[in-house]
Amino acid sequence: MILVLLRRASTAPSVRVEIRGRVRIEPLGGRGVARAGTGLSEDFPLAAGAPARRIRAEEGPVVVNGKPYPGALRLAPGDRGLLPVIETDLEAYVVGVLAGELGSGFTLAALRAQAVASRTYVLSRLRSTPPGQPWHVADDVTAQVFVGVPPEPIFRKAAADTGGLILAWRGAPIPAYFHSTCGGHTAPAEEVFGLAGIPPLSGVPCEFCRSAKYYRWETRLSADDVARAASMPPPATGISVLRRGFGGRALSVLVEGARPATLAASDLRLRLGAEKLRSTLILDIARSGPDFVLSGGGWGHGVGMCQMGAQGMGRAGASASDILAHYYPGAALTRLY
Ligand SMILES: [Zn+2]
Repeated sequence: MILVLLRRASTAPSVRVEIRGRVRIEPLGGRGVARAGTGLSEDFPLAAGAPARRIRAEEGPVVVNGKPYPGALRLAPGDRGLLPVIETDLEAYVVGVLAGELGSGFTLAALRAQAVASRTYVLSRLRSTPPGQPWHVADDVTAQVFVGVPPEPIFRKAAADTGGLILAWRGAPIPAYFHSTCGGHTAPAEEVFGLAGIPPLSGVPCEFCRSAKYYRWETRLSADDVARAASMPPPATGISVLRRGFGGRALSVLVEGARPATLAASDLRLRLGAEKLRSTLILDIARSGPDFVLSGGGWGHGVGMCQMGAQGMGRAGASASDILAHYYPGAALTRLY
């Protein structure tokens, strides 16, 4: 069972819940039935003090704020009130992640590979849930984008074709990270997340994402924005890469100006915004009037499977296991159930 926080819904004062057919509402963590009946269309408050509940459809999805989800909806006590949390089995979770992460334009091989990666990733995350937190992962990019029950059958097929398969290293599921586009080489997990000792996440060359939209990019940054990102008085007068990692990503950068600063390239990316600086694979830096123009490659942190590369491999006839063996070398494709 996976508990998924509906992040955006959690910021509103209430959630709208709709269910067709038989409904069962139970006190969360208690016994008995608070309510049972047929059909539901109601706003449930999330304010502190509102009753914690488990709302379940006996058949079909539970619709939260207009979107269908598998399993049941928990209204679980958080720090400032109730949190909307979907309680779903692993396979239904994977289906909703495939639709959120890849969409239906991907080859079946890429979708199957993503299904194995996503199933593995969430299992590796279950152990790191802080005690007392009423959810395992959120439904956004802090874990994997989960969109509930998608209408397209291809996602169910890709999940079912690989049902129960995970990637293991020394008997444990690996943190099977993935990202949109690597730009030519994936990054070691040790460089990006400080995660050492997992050889399948050491980084590999990738020639399969060359036709991706963000294989190469250019971004224009104002001298003031760069100074702000480096916590110095504006304007910044120069940027240079001080250190590169395996595969060529920038590890640290020097920002020059009134108070020169050295910072991790990942921090620069975080502070400028991931849309402004799509990756730390910064290949060239030029001045253009008062601005800096950075050219680089890839989109995302670069660790694990390159999704656009998986698509490229799938288009060239590779199978899901070929794709997984390329991006997670040495990981054992293992049947969990
Ligand atoms: Zn790639």
